[in-house]
Amino acid sequence: MATGVAGVLAGRRVNAEPETPGEVAWSRKVPVRYEADVAVLGGGIAGVSAACAAARSGAKVLLVERFAITGGDLTSGGVASFCGETAGQGEVLDEILTDMEKFKTIEPYKPYPQADHRVFDHHILAIVLQEILLRRKVKLLLHTRFVDVRLVGGRITECIVCGKSGPEALRAKQFIDCTGDADVARMAGFAVMKGQPHSLPMSMMSFVRHVEKQEPQLPDGWFEPVKTKEALPMTSIWPNGPGSNALKIKIPMFDATDTESLTAAEIRARRRTLEVLDYYQRVLKKGWRYDGCSPQIGIREGARITGDYVLTLKDLRAGRVFDDGVARGVYYLDGHKPDDDKRTYILKKSELKVPPYQIPLRSLIAKDGVNLLMAGRCFSAEQLALSSARVSTSCAMMGQAAGIASAMATQKQTDPRKLDPQLVRRVVEERGGKLS
Ligand SMILES: Cc1cc2nc3c(=O)[nH]c(=O)nc-3n(C[C@H](O)[C@H](O)[C@H](O)COP(=O)(O)OP(=O)(O)OC[C@H]3O[C@@H](n4cnc5c(N)ncnc54)[C@H](O)[C@@H]3O)c2cc1C
Repeated sequence: MATGVAGVLAGRRVNAEPETPGEVAWSRKVPVRYEADVAVLGGGIAGVSAACAAARSGAKVLLVERFAITGGDLTSGGVASFCGETAGQGEVLDEILTDMEKFKTIEPYKPYPQADHRVFDHHILAIVLQEILLRRKVKLLLHTRFVDVRLVGGRITECIVCGKSGPEALRAKQFIDCTGDADVARMAGFAVMKGQPHSLPMSMMSFVRHVEKQEPQLPDGWFEPVKTKEALPMTSIWPNGPGSNALKIKIPMFDATDTESLTAAEIRARRRTLEVLDYYQRVLKKGWRYDGCSPQIGIREGARITGDYVLTLKDLRAGRVFDDGVARGVYYLDGHKPDDDKRTYILKKSELKVPPYQIPLRSLIAKDGVNLLMAGRCFSAEQLALSSARVSTSCAMMGQAAGIASAMATQKQTDPRKLDPQLVRRVVEERGGKLS
């Protein structure tokens, strides 16, 4: 698949446009190093599912991930739990779960809502995901960040990606934005939506090891330790294998699509973690030793791409089915209140439950694009609809549907919008996706 192009002026600046105050113009020729039928940008659970499904359909697939591992929120965000219904999400998630069971590092299956989540070891998930991708012959680029697009009309012809080899072009027929934050759509100038006035809050996952006796670890004068129960932010304590717990701490009011805000969130989250841990060590006398935070803060909402259809709260409440329904959600409206750090929700507790609902193919197709699909937490939905559909099981199912649709589009030499959605649905169902 690597197609280094001889004679390309990689690394040389050419034809810079005239600059205006406060802006610089730059351009550069880069080699077209990669060609694929389907390019997936972002290797979270949605991206891995999309890549695996497209490869299963026979497409030549390339997956671009900015970090060293795939899994996104579930691995580098330390989330380590599949919420919602894990059965019937399609053969990709089935294979992931079967492999996790072989490693004996996932809680046993119980149907939703008898159990609403299955905790697992996220270090093992990172290994399982990479092996599934390689098994299916997906070309995987790690440490490689999507940077920009080249557009002709609404059609993306290439993406510019940048890893240690420097900027390079990736040419594909179909692209799937699984960055969680709509990076591809935003660079293309396509319409996106963000939480107004605020996005769903982020949370930091951290880990403690149980020891016989643990003195407080935060030195005097560092940060602002929590002294009372009332002052604690929302802190969830999860199992994390023998002799360990995971702590999830709510960090509200930051924007995952703004460089400075995201930096500030990471700084705040690491400080806050030690402030909270101090309460458990000093006040509650817990024998918990700090074992570290996940490498990145967990992001619930970045930007959502406006699709041909925007899934609404009303659709979820009605348990709506669609002619082009290709995925399904069951989880409650997990819309944490964005502007405080307590265990609060946008809606009243009595209003959180929704019946099973479908996710239409149209909400996975970028409205302003010709060949851009999306899956996972940047799909086209209202904020409260996202609060349910963002759980990893639904993201996996959306990813599988987007992968099937984009592979089908390349095979039929058309674009996703022109496909008969019934054909996509049929393959989703043939591959174990339960739509009702
Ligand atoms: C704190 C927290 C707790 C949660 N708890 C649960 C739970 O218990 N159970 C559950 O099922 N769900 C839970 N969720 C939700 C769920 O984990 C996520 O919504 C889901 O995993 C998102 O998957 P995704 O693939 O859409 O996005 P992500 O997991 O965010 O993946 C996006 C991927 O794209 C990569 N990427 C981003 N930008 C670029 C770029 N420019 N170039 C290259 N790569 C890029 C990222 O590195 C990442 O790997 C939780 C979420 C949070 C934040």
